[in-house]
Amino acid sequence: MPTIFSKIVAGEIPADIVYKDDQVTAFKDINPIAPVHILIVPNKEIATANDIAPSDEQLIGHMFVAAKQIAAEQGIAESGYRLIINCRDDGGQEVYHLHLHLIGGRKLGPMLSKRD
Ligand code: AMP
Repeated sequence: MPTIFSKIVAGEIPADIVYKDDQVTAFKDINPIAPVHILIVPNKEIATANDIAPSDEQLIGHMFVAAKQIAAEQGIAESGYRLIINCRDDGGQEVYHLHLHLIGGRKLGPMLSKRD
């Protein structure tokens, strides 16, 4: 079963795409937690950070190169931002297609919320 993000990459369901090349697609998060909240996803399906292979090293690096370029385009390079990858249940991962959250445009506060 293709993931919802694979369907966005394939153009089968709509998304607000801000960047696309032969390796990654970046689009606005549908439920943003900050003025800038963009997801950078590999065009090929990698389920979680656990599933990154040594042969994916260039692709993973490219996700970060794309992220800093998009941050500059979004005007948050100087003010700063956060890049997050959630992995599986404890990491809070909802969509099992690897993605890098690019979040900024406001002060983001501490990295983690306190324990319940
Ligand atoms: P994660 O919890 O790291 O798996 O993050 C999944 C993110 O995908 C959440 O922030 C969702 O708001 C976002 N999301 C889910 N479906 C869509 C969609 N169709 N278009 C854009 N963002 C989405």
